[in-house]
Amino acid sequence: MKALAVIPKQVDSAHIVEVNKPAVSDVADGRGVLVEVLRVGACGTDREINHGEYGVPPMGFDFLILGHENFGRVVEVGENVREVKPGDFVVATVRRPRGSSIYDTIGEQDFTTDDKYYERGISRLHGYMAEFYSESADFLVKIPPAIAEIAVLLEPLSIIEKGLKQASDIQERLKIWHPKTAAVLGSGNVGLLTIMALRMRGYEVHGFGLDKRDGYLNADLIEAIGATYDSTTETTVADSVKKYDEYDLIFECTGYSPIIFDAMQALNENGILILASVTGGGRKTDKVPSDLINQRFVLGNRAMVGTVNANREHFEMGVKDLALCEAMYPGWLGKMLTHKVEGLENFAKVFEILNNSAQYKAIKTYFEVKPI
Ligand code: BGC
Repeated sequence: MKALAVIPKQVDSAHIVEVNKPAVSDVADGRGVLVEVLRVGACGTDREINHGEYGVPPMGFDFLILGHENFGRVVEVGENVREVKPGDFVVATVRRPRGSSIYDTIGEQDFTTDDKYYERGISRLHGYMAEFYSESADFLVKIPPAIAEIAVLLEPLSIIEKGLKQASDIQERLKIWHPKTAAVLGSGNVGLLTIMALRMRGYEVHGFGLDKRDGYLNADLIEAIGATYDSTTETTVADSVKKYDEYDLIFECTGYSPIIFDAMQALNENGILILASVTGGGRKTDKVPSDLINQRFVLGNRAMVGTVNANREHFEMGVKDLALCEAMYPGWLGKMLTHKVEGLENFAKVFEILNNSAQYKAIKTYFEVKPI
């Protein structure tokens, strides 16, 4: 079968490879599921991997099959699989418990403390940009047919769901926490999904991005679900509290690390700041009002947490939010799927869009490997 691979650490190495079709029997104990891939989303992580900045091939391979934002249909199941059957739609999780840390051992691999982690399409395991994949039923999440059209958004949403779950777990320290307002920093696809997830929880949400408001499709979408949009070129997050007051929760997903110091100054007492951007660069920043920030965190019992990856429960939370959003704002999620590229062989187009997403006005670019 055909798959899209890269040579990790080599710049622009994406190419099509011909590999053996996987089989249900590749997975032990009759727990295998063979899935035909229908759609695979492309994101900044895929772009970085193809830029040679990130990514590790599986042992014994010099290439890595890309792709982690997946959606597919079950073709065949092993004799010990009861959870899904042929014809079901599924999304697979990304990280596998292959490490040696205690968190891997207890199935909480998203909290692994190992430096070597195992993520399909990213690190040490082949991904989903292929015609088929096989996987243990343990790592597959069933998708209701009603949300099949938008289910390729589930993997990026799972990252947000995990962040929000961490926040609510941490805030149990307060015994009573009734958060009302949230700021979301970043208005790309992750920012939009975060705003959506917070609106589904009833927050008053304020979104921030670099782009000016006028003619910005993402801002239209933000406002369409009852949130506000401000460009940080006009209002800094710290200044925005004059307009909106301090935020009970702030979710950072811009990829621009200096903004976190701004966010720290906009948090309400007892509030929580969630950091979710993977910033691989070497950026440094000065002019941080460190006394002020420290004082506010100490005297206001504020909290900050970093979050990465997601486990099965976070994908399941995401399925519910996708379904609720479709019910409340029919068609809204579909508008995020701005750029469909048919066929893995057209990968050059996908990277062209990823590298120039502002010019293309792209929110989510994805491969249609096979029509639904
Ligand atoms: C993926 C996560 C992964 C992270 C770090 C993200 O793009 O969505 O599943 O843990 O990259 O590799």
